[in-house]
Amino acid sequence: MHYLDANATEPLRPEARAAMAAALDVTGNPSSVHGAGRAARRVMEDARESLAVRFGGRPADLVFTSGGTEADALAIHALGAGRRIVIGATEHDAVRAAAPGAAILPVDRTGVADLDALAALLADGPPALVCLMLANNETGTMQPVAEAAALCRRHGARLHVDAVQAAGRMAVDFSALGADSLAISSHKLGGPAGAGALLLAPEVASIAPLIAGGGQERGRRGGTPPVAAIAGFAAAALASGDATALKPLRDLVEQAAVACGAVVCGAGAARLPNTTCVALPGVRADAQVIALDLEGVAVSAGAACSSGKVAASHVLAAMGLGPLAGQAIRVSLPWNADADDIAAFAAAYARMAARLCLSRCAKEVVQRSDAGEGRNAGESRALRPSRASLTRLDLSHFVGEVS
Ligand code: PLP
Repeated sequence: MHYLDANATEPLRPEARAAMAAALDVTGNPSSVHGAGRAARRVMEDARESLAVRFGGRPADLVFTSGGTEADALAIHALGAGRRIVIGATEHDAVRAAAPGAAILPVDRTGVADLDALAALLADGPPALVCLMLANNETGTMQPVAEAAALCRRHGARLHVDAVQAAGRMAVDFSALGADSLAISSHKLGGPAGAGALLLAPEVASIAPLIAGGGQERGRRGGTPPVAAIAGFAAAALASGDATALKPLRDLVEQAAVACGAVVCGAGAARLPNTTCVALPGVRADAQVIALDLEGVAVSAGAACSSGKVAASHVLAAMGLGPLAGQAIRVSLPWNADADDIAAFAAAYARMAARLCLSRCAKEVVQRSDAGEGRNAGESRALRPSRASLTRLDLSHFVGEVS
């Protein structure tokens, strides 16, 4: 299996596995006052310290949660109380569902939020909570969060930043951003699922909980914390740098798709180096995902599939991509992706596009390679580039423009 769906969940990093294995042997509950409890608390507080330092916050102002969804919900619950809420048009459902009735901040065709529209929204009405993600989960498009934070300060608004996809893939410095809160999630950076965190600015750090429970996390989030998952979260965060090294591979994915007639959604914007969203005009996203899965390549649809129906992606729809919003797949490279994964994707994508008879360009590629190479167990050599040729960024066997 060639796993190219990191934005759904990253493969576990070995550092996280090792930290979890060690923490699983620590028996106590971090709330207990005895030695066993204190040992568990030490593991947790070490992790809190590492995570806060890693992402530019203060340990005391970091609240552990079950993941990104809960961190977003907690921020909106606590910082949005009594305020009107404004969210970016391409925010994740974790934010959208926690802020029903929010005013929507439009984005341009590359998915970047319109800061003039934000200024107008903030000037008009009572103090707001603004939610703006650092990088989008479907397209990788980065938002001008520091500029938005300055605008928010000028208008007495608060800013919550969903950094779930950004953390571990680009520089994230909470205090430099100037936001009020920032959500991160363990399984998106190579830790286990089941842990996340909300970083808070010192001025708003004493928030009301969404789950009160036993008063853990200084009364900000009740519930016994998953110590081993938290240890794995911190180890993964420390092991993750940014994903810059993946950009050449991501660019090859785009070249291969564009050669078959695809359009890169969000091209031209600053984007996460591991993420691309490519739309194949006329081909439903779910058909593409299934065809690639049958070839052993795991990607996801930008569109949400339920009950056999494909709902167009709200992200791509907000970018004004019309029917393409239901025809795009997301390819997101994990930290351990290599050239073989990209070669497999390129071959499978070209065959998929040709088989669905919707890309003349891809059909020409197949015909040319078949004529030149002959069929070899249904797979031509021209469509399965060698690791060496990919490493040299040599995609001469593909045709088409690269955006
Ligand atoms: N925010 C963004 C941008 C995401 O991509 C996701 C998950 O895909 C979430 C929030 C939710 O995170 P979690 O899966 O940790 O609840």
